[in-house]
Amino acid sequence: SESTTTEVVIPRYMRVNFIKTTTEDVIKELQTEGWEYVGKIEIESFKESVLALTKNQFGLDPILNDLLVFPVGTNLYNHNLTVSGVLIQQDKASCIPAHVLSPLAGSVVLDCCASPGNKTSHLASLMKDKGRIVAVDRDFKRMSTMSRLLERSGVTCVELVHQDFLTVQPSSEDAKNITMILVDPSCSGSGRMGTQQGKDDYSTDKKRLETLKLFQISILKHAFRFPNVKRVVYSTCSVHEEENEQVVEEILSHVSDYFKCVHIFPEWACHRGIAGYPHSECFLRLSPEHDLTQGFFVACFERVKEMSDKVG
Ligand code: SAM
Repeated sequence: SESTTTEVVIPRYMRVNFIKTTTEDVIKELQTEGWEYVGKIEIESFKESVLALTKNQFGLDPILNDLLVFPVGTNLYNHNLTVSGVLIQQDKASCIPAHVLSPLAGSVVLDCCASPGNKTSHLASLMKDKGRIVAVDRDFKRMSTMSRLLERSGVTCVELVHQDFLTVQPSSEDAKNITMILVDPSCSGSGRMGTQQGKDDYSTDKKRLETLKLFQISILKHAFRFPNVKRVVYSTCSVHEEENEQVVEEILSHVSDYFKCVHIFPEWACHRGIAGYPHSECFLRLSPEHDLTQGFFVACFERVKEMSDKVG
């Protein structure tokens, strides 16, 4: 179709690994190499400011305090800061879930669909490698990729569990310590650049989306079985409401006595959930066109009542 030719560009996002350094120190180091730091980018004019960055300039993201933004096409792949795991190349959208879960150092976190580990290593960075992250994935090959990323990032607080998350026992003694869960399950990937416009045929994929939706609901439901979980973040790189709003609303219909949806980053005038769903205002929906990120969806649930409070 004609619409497939629209060119959308995404800048280069580099995440600062707090296990190895601070944002300030990385900025100073880049400046000594000749890069020009333009400061923290204004939230209101983010898109224009980022697209106006010239070749040797970079700035700090207005929302995420560990995310540096470089012009489209910047290649830092072989830079010593990347090779040494001080900077990690990661799309801004993919950096949102860990910030929304926002674990403090010392937290006990479960990342239930963790490979290849981008968000696991981000969680560890925010926790300054203090506390414990249980990273579960059922795909052995992807877990070895994760293992290498964690090693390069200097992460030691992660326990890798090669297992189907649906078979992880929420009632075990160990599971009782878990208070935060990240749920980033397999999805259609329709938000990733190149798959969004035209190639992902919605009508013929309807059956596949229903299957994915049921799978995502089953994973998210299992996360809510962990007795002491206080916060759950759900994310996908899908643009389809079946995998996003519909999954979250279905879960809320089961857990709303105990959990509510949190309004994520209220100061950010980005797109929210698709209108017509009861909790749309709480969700984040990011897109290349508006946010200069991959297409992405995030929702956050927070406990409002303990199970033991239940009457009857
Ligand atoms: N969170 C990862 C990151 O940021 O790098 C990306 C996760 S990817 C979207 C989804 C992952 O879920 C895949 O690695 C897949 O193997 C895993 N997965 C799918 N079903 C699973 C299950 N039942 N139990 C555990 N892992 C599962």
